[in-house]
Amino acid sequence: MIGVFGGTFDPVHNGHLRTALDVQEALGIRRIHFVPLKEAVHRDQPGTPAELRCALVQAAVADQPGFIMDNRELHREGPSWSYYTLESFRREYPDEPLCFLMGSDAFNGYLQWHRPLEILELAHLVVMQRPDASRPGGDLAALLDERQTLEAGDLHALPAGRIFLQPVTQLEISASDIRQRIAVGRSARFLVPEPVLGIIQQLRLYDCLLYTS
Ligand code: ATP
Repeated sequence: MIGVFGGTFDPVHNGHLRTALDVQEALGIRRIHFVPLKEAVHRDQPGTPAELRCALVQAAVADQPGFIMDNRELHREGPSWSYYTLESFRREYPDEPLCFLMGSDAFNGYLQWHRPLEILELAHLVVMQRPDASRPGGDLAALLDERQTLEAGDLHALPAGRIFLQPVTQLEISASDIRQRIAVGRSARFLVPEPVLGIIQQLRLYDCLLYTS
């Protein structure tokens, strides 16, 4: 089984990494591809160029077996719709179950994504419960009623189509908080891996307040 973890990763932080490891261990995922987006579609554009965000992810995952930095969205023109990213993973792994990882905050807006139901034809969704997670209502609750499974084994048995809510280590770390801390001269140590911190310091990323929003 393969995991796909998309995000802005501006910067990648221990909240992403620890929770991805929780999911990998809990579900028996062979490898997790971290896929930094090029062009955001559901939020403001990241202030940091995509190549640099990829370099941060590369530094973060280099020593972790089964974690892979994947820059496929950089090579695609136009907005980084997850549907097309997952289509390309499906071509690469025609028969293997795919799990698309997202935090519960991202899942709350899932039905506003491009082709959400077709995404479920390509992959399972694994929703990592974040500290502020509340049970969704409305159409999302209906989707959960239809697609949720409580059995991790179902994810291995089918290539796509199920939603699994995964409890993970609760780490109240966010990239926006890290950017803001650095902008006001505070440290991001212990919130990001040391090699990531090294690049941030060396290139003076996020030093400017205008850069953080
Ligand atoms: P920002 O603060 O800039 O919005 P972020 O910290 O939420 O960034 P993203 O790169 O936007 O990071 O997130 C990518 C994915 O990782 C999303 O699905 C998000 O829900 C999830 N995620 C981010 N931080 C955590 C965390 N601390 N615990 C669990 N999931 C997380």
